[in-house]
This record gives sequence, structure tokens and C-alpha cells, in this order.
Amino acid sequence: PEFISVSNLADVIGVRPAQFVQRMEDMGFEEITYRDILDAETAGLVAAEFNYEAIFDSGKADLHAAPELEDTSGLPPRPPVVTIMGHVDHGKTTILDWLRKSSVAASEHGGITQHIGAFSVMMPSGKAITFLDTPGHSAFLEMRRRGADVTDIVVLVVAADDSVKPQTIEAIKHATQAKVPVIVAISKIDKEGNNPDRVKGDLSVHGIHVEDYGGDVQAIGVSGKTGQGMVELEEAIVALSEMLDHRASTTCNVEGWVIEASTKSYGRVASALIRRGTLRPGDIIVAGTAWARVRTLRNEAGVAISEATPGMPVEIDGWREQPGAGTELLQAPTEQKAKDVVDYRLEKSDTQKMGIDMVAINEARRELL
Ligand code: GDP
Ligand code: MG
Repeated sequence: PEFISVSNLADVIGVRPAQFVQRMEDMGFEEITYRDILDAETAGLVAAEFNYEAIFDSGKADLHAAPELEDTSGLPPRPPVVTIMGHVDHGKTTILDWLRKSSVAASEHGGITQHIGAFSVMMPSGKAITFLDTPGHSAFLEMRRRGADVTDIVVLVVAADDSVKPQTIEAIKHATQAKVPVIVAISKIDKEGNNPDRVKGDLSVHGIHVEDYGGDVQAIGVSGKTGQGMVELEEAIVALSEMLDHRASTTCNVEGWVIEASTKSYGRVASALIRRGTLRPGDIIVAGTAWARVRTLRNEAGVAISEATPGMPVEIDGWREQPGAGTELLQAPTEQKAKDVVDYRLEKSDTQKMGIDMVAINEARRELL
């Protein structure tokens, strides 16, 4: 193959993706994301910046994600993936709990939602929203540190009676750096002493300009306790997602991200978010150095489903090894290919460890592609 993703190349060279992207931008590349696909020549140029010599070896085929810059306009819409962020005690968990109770699984199965790292909410309009199940920016950062850009929208929770606090400012910083659009949920709106105007004013000091304050960021007063404003919040998310026009192919090779991995009574499982394609039992997938022939797909109620489409959280079993959280999941055409890719990656990661020392003495020679 003559292509490699930015995150794979950073991985091969042994540099943190954020640092790697920064270096590329210093070199004059613009608007680089982890998922961008570099051709061999560009990859060679960038590798040279890190004192690596690219040796083009197309004999060792790896699996490749589709380029990110494709024209998606003719493809089906997909649900947005949302992360909830904000200061401690501002009501993130309470909001997630409210949403979880209205999740697809909960409505179909009497309110029992298992934790699989994400869940979907279906709006009366038939539009779905996928929420990552872990509030706070540590999860967001952890995923990004591993190169996974899973979040489409950040819901920034700010308590109406407490306004902007240090972790609010942190969350704004992270969302801005990641170029992820924000919707503000002014929480605890049911509480005495609530002051949404103060929240809006304080936010604008920190670069979040809401609608009545000269900006275009939506701000919705909510209470995760009484449910006030929650449907409006969901509608705002759907409206923003429609404006951003999130779409993905359902017919291409499957791509996604592993959100979490664990062992349950029925074996090794990983929850994943599908980015492209449709995953079905029997499909063969690779995530990092683990592979699986999908045995069962389950939704967040633990119920077996026949397929998972883009934006949908799903629990997958059938893994030969435990995959790592945050790793990219790609479909393989055959079991043999999956095994070859895993072997290749294991071998690569061995040489990679040596490679790091070699970089230090400026003479590293690494196989790149
Ligand atoms: P987190 O730290 O951001 O996850 O905040 P929590 O959801 O754990 O909420 C912190 C505290 O605020 C808890 O005691 C909640 O019961 C309370 N709380 C959260 N949301 C609301 C709300 O909308 N109204 C009221 N009155 N209390 C809330
Ligand atoms: Mg919490």
C-alpha cells in the first residue's frame, strides 16, 4: 500500500499524535487531523523530519482506512456522537442518567441499560443521538491521546447557580483545540439562585459566545433532575448535527473505534462505535493487534442485534485477544489476512521499540509502509 494515516505514521515513529500533528503544521501542512491519509511521498517527507528514512515496502500489506476527505454528500445521515463535559458537580452524571433512561435500549427493555461505553437515544422524529457514557474530559482526552477523534459534538455543562469554573475553562480549551463544536447546557435550572445570564456572560469571557450574546453557540437551560429542557437539548444536538451534515457510507468496509474492552461471562468483549460500513456477525475485524470473527453483536441492553451501522454503539464478542481501548477497528477480508496484519503489527511494534533509541542517535532506519 502506498498510503498511511497520520496516526499510524506517528505510531510507527513513536511520537505522540498531537506532537506529530504540530510538527506537520510547523512544516506548513494545514488542517491536519489524525485520520488524514498521507501518500508515500508525503509520508517520506514527514518521516525525514523525525530523522527516519522511509523504506517503501508494499509486500507487507496492512489494512487501511478510507481517506477522510471523501465527499459524503450522497451518503446516508448518521447519528452524531456526543461527549458531555464540564466542571465537577455541575450535573453531568445526572444529565447522562436522564438520557440513558430515554435510550433506545431502555425504552425497549424496561429501563435496563448496561454500561458499554456509549448509548443511543432515539428522538420522536426518528433521529438518533449517540452519547459517550463517560462524562468529563479525561475520557475525551484519553481517546484523543490515542489518536481517536470520536466526538462530533461536546455538550458543555455549566451549572446555573455556579457558573464558569476551572474545569469549565479546561473543557472549553479541549473542545476548541479539537475543533469540536459546542452546545451549552445550563444545568440545575430548577434550582433557586439560578442565573443563566451570568453563565452566558462568563462564557463569553472565555470565548464561548452564545446566541443572545452575539454568537451562534446554542445554550439551553436544563435540569437533569426534573427533565426540564432536556428534550430541547436533544433537539439542539440533532439540529446542529443536521447542519454539520454528518453522513457515512453503510456499504464500505467497516471502520470504527474501540471504546472499551472487558471480559464478561460470555467471553472477551469490546464496545465500539462504528464510523463507516455495517458490521454483522461473521465479519472479521482487526483492532490494533487483536482480531475477531464477530460472534454476537449486542446493543446497550445486552440484546443481540443483526447489524451495527455508523454512529451506533455496539458490543462485540469473538475476540482472540483483548483489544485496546481507543484503537481503530478495521474490517479484514479473511481470517488469514487478519492474522497476517496482526503478525505484521506485532513485528512492527518490536522494531519500533528499537527505533525510538535509534532516533535519539539520529540514524534510525525504519520500515514505514
Ligand atoms: P457531575 O459531577 O457533573 O457528574 O454532577 P452530578 O450529576 O453528580 O451532580 C452533582 C450534584 O448536583 C448531585 O447532588 C445532583 O443530585 C445535583 N444535581 C445535578 N443536576 C441537578 C439539577 O438539574 N437540579 C438540581 N436541583 N440538582 C442537580
Ligand atoms: Mg459525575
